[in-house]
Amino acid sequence: MAQIFTIIGARPQFIKAAAMTRAIADSPFWNQTILHTGQHYDPLLSDIFFEELNIPKPTFSLKLITSDRSERMVEMRKGIKEALETSSPDVVLVYGDTDSTLAGAQVAHELRIPLIHIEAGLRSFDLNMPEEINRIETDKLSTLLVAPTRTAIANLESEGLFHSLLSGDIMHDNALHFTKDLHCIKTSSILVTMHRPSNVDSPERLHSWIDAVGEFCLDNRISAVFPVHPRTEKGLIKIFGKDFKSTLMNQRIKAIKPVGYIELLKLIKSSSLVITDSGGVQKESYSCGTASVVIRHNTEWVELLESGHSVLCPEPSDLMELATSKHSQIIDTSDNLYGDGNASVHILKEISKRFISL
Ligand code: UDP
Repeated sequence: MAQIFTIIGARPQFIKAAAMTRAIADSPFWNQTILHTGQHYDPLLSDIFFEELNIPKPTFSLKLITSDRSERMVEMRKGIKEALETSSPDVVLVYGDTDSTLAGAQVAHELRIPLIHIEAGLRSFDLNMPEEINRIETDKLSTLLVAPTRTAIANLESEGLFHSLLSGDIMHDNALHFTKDLHCIKTSSILVTMHRPSNVDSPERLHSWIDAVGEFCLDNRISAVFPVHPRTEKGLIKIFGKDFKSTLMNQRIKAIKPVGYIELLKLIKSSSLVITDSGGVQKESYSCGTASVVIRHNTEWVELLESGHSVLCPEPSDLMELATSKHSQIIDTSDNLYGDGNASVHILKEISKRFISL
């Protein structure tokens, strides 16, 4: 059998890998070797997803020593190179836009192993986001660019990159797969997630977002469920102290630990609105039929804005008006913005066609 070498390291990548893992398991042509770069090692951001989503245990798990970004890239590249030299795979698969994605892409390119980038062509056009640099660089190094949307294909073509496949979105595959047997009743409650450095690293800004969400909840007499990312927790402790949960409760915000994937989908599906800065959660909100307010200045998922399923909210002062406009809005997903729920099957078919002689 031919070997796919999957490089993952961060929460969204574990979820993306789950969809491809199901397709690979059904294929008579491929087996998969997984390398975990150790970028996210907190059990609530890592182990829980391997167990819940049936992802095989990684063959290679790197232990990163430093938290300095550029030194960590060096560590990741070294570990990935050793593992690739040991495994000699037929293709390398990387997902999304994290440092693990770029480190994997650089080593695959150096070793001249065909590189497949899933979620290619997404652009926020904001070079202040480290993810944007990772995406652009990874796309340049890829042998096959797997783009989730027509916009992503157009972005690639405008950069002179034509070796692409329009696949649909594998996170949409997952959301449909894992919600098909979930029966949730819509409640008035809303879901909030935020973890982007631009929103949570400055205590003033994080405080303003919390106050804006609290004001919306108090005004509407509803509550918000808020699974708190470890990065955000650090900021909340700085502002409100260790007992931040009770302070937030006074604003009708229920702060909880990060939840597993299925629990997150249940929360999205049963909420009347999602407020988020996450790339994945924006799309999952659409997949689950819930409107979202994206607390960012831009998004790579522009079709959500064009279709009115989401709205951008750049500043906390805009939240009341925009959340009010989207609260309880019904989302019709028959427009299939992110494909037919079988993106991973289409992707594997194309990889087989191009990289093994059948
Ligand atoms: N997620 C989860 N539990 C949580 C919050 C998020 O399972 O408490 C999932 C969710 O499916 C999301 C994915 O983690 O799509 C990655 O989200 P994150 O916001 O970390 O990264 P981004 O999508 O912004 O890169």
